[in-house]
Amino acid sequence: MLVQTYSGSILGIDAHIITIETFITKGIQFAIVGLADSAIRESQQRIDSALKHNGLKIPRQSVTINMAPADLKKEGAGYDLALTIGILAADGKINDEKLSAYIILGELSLEGKLRPVKGVLPICIEAKRKGFKGVVLPKNNIREASLLKDFDIIGVNHFKDAIAFFNVKYAENRITNTPQSPLSFTKKTPLDFKDVKGQQKVKRAFEIAAAGHHNLIMIGPPGVGKTMLAKRLPSILPPLCEKQMIDSAKIHSIAGAMRKQDELYLPSFRSPHHTISDVALVGGGVYPKPGEISLAHHGILFLDELPEFKKSVLEVLRQPLEEHEIHLSRAKYSAHYPARFIFVASMNPCPCGYYNHPSKACTCNPFQIKKYVQKISGPLLDRIDLHVEVSPVETHLLFTKAIDERYTSKKISERITKAREIQRHRFKTMSTKTNAHLSGSQIESYCKIDTSCKKILQQVIEKLDLSARAYNKILKVARTIADLEESDSIVVQHLTEAIGFRSLDKGSWGD
Ligand SMILES: [Zn+2]
Repeated sequence: MLVQTYSGSILGIDAHIITIETFITKGIQFAIVGLADSAIRESQQRIDSALKHNGLKIPRQSVTINMAPADLKKEGAGYDLALTIGILAADGKINDEKLSAYIILGELSLEGKLRPVKGVLPICIEAKRKGFKGVVLPKNNIREASLLKDFDIIGVNHFKDAIAFFNVKYAENRITNTPQSPLSFTKKTPLDFKDVKGQQKVKRAFEIAAAGHHNLIMIGPPGVGKTMLAKRLPSILPPLCEKQMIDSAKIHSIAGAMRKQDELYLPSFRSPHHTISDVALVGGGVYPKPGEISLAHHGILFLDELPEFKKSVLEVLRQPLEEHEIHLSRAKYSAHYPARFIFVASMNPCPCGYYNHPSKACTCNPFQIKKYVQKISGPLLDRIDLHVEVSPVETHLLFTKAIDERYTSKKISERITKAREIQRHRFKTMSTKTNAHLSGSQIESYCKIDTSCKKILQQVIEKLDLSARAYNKILKVARTIADLEESDSIVVQHLTEAIGFRSLDKGSWGD
């Protein structure tokens, strides 16, 4: 008898429905065909063991399984349950009425229990799009699948539960869907800038970064709260829209790192340690998996102590910072993951950490300081619009209970929302959505400055020996500052504030 069951596979962030044809006839053999990898071929052992533990067995006949489309490589153990159900149905042990309406996902333990699989959300989205009624999957995967509305989600702990589900006909007392707790998207309250004493210039830099989607680096001695400040950036970014939330959740689902429900609309904040490998940062591996930069999609990638990262790791960041996505070409596959994030980094000003410190003495010589800063390659630094120096908070501010009302996350967000609205309107017919992503010619059109501004800029460029890239960055940041002030034109005050965020450009660092 020939039956068809359905499962799903992931390539990059795209899901594909896999049709599994199982044919049982006279003879003795077991074969899986259709570009299955070794993990799938090992399925036979897992299925055999699971069935035996439960008083069943793979029929002693010729079992041929074909996985289609044949040109798509199928990997991993996530097809175990679909294969098992197919074999039992082809052996006449399962009613096939519902088999065409549900996709089946799940890995089997040797006793027949189900283990969660990765990529459930994109597979379910694709299955729904293709007209499937629902999914049968491990109970531990219910949460991510339940982001879909009008889609049956049948969570099972054991393959026998799946048999029971398929053997109850539609007409009979139907097994009800696994009760899903209604999705309450109560937004998680992120950390608030109001809890940070002082540091007005840094908070202002974060405001500008969030308003125009600019990358930012903080330079300051250890213990001044650089990480604490960075962690508050999600609180002032606009919450994700429905599409962004799904895009981000799909990537987390494929990486097997689904976020909690109350965090789904919050821009993600990823801060990998400086010992991270290239693969963990940008993605890849034996089975392609998105890396930290894609988990940060629509959110923030924070690299604390940037000069401590391996040179190779910093190098691989360049392409995604420029193109907002990553292409991985390996011998066995090529995959593509989105990676549009605000890049935030922090670093000490010198090896000992106290260069420019108000009270502690720096023990480094100018050569050591310059060498330290040069660890961050020019091309990487070129992609960072805002450099902000972070100093220790003045003691009297540490003990004040007063909150700076202008710099609570709520107030900052209000200004950012307006600035983003202005940009949305300005760029409504363009693919560029924020000032940070303006191209050279767009900068000329949208960041016009008058003669007095030009004069100042000219002087600064000569004095600090700034590159053409730095010039463009100043203009883009000035545009964002003007937008925050709801000003149509860039005026001297906007420009000078933007110039103030170029600390590392100044060739004088370390002198
Ligand atoms: Zn030092």
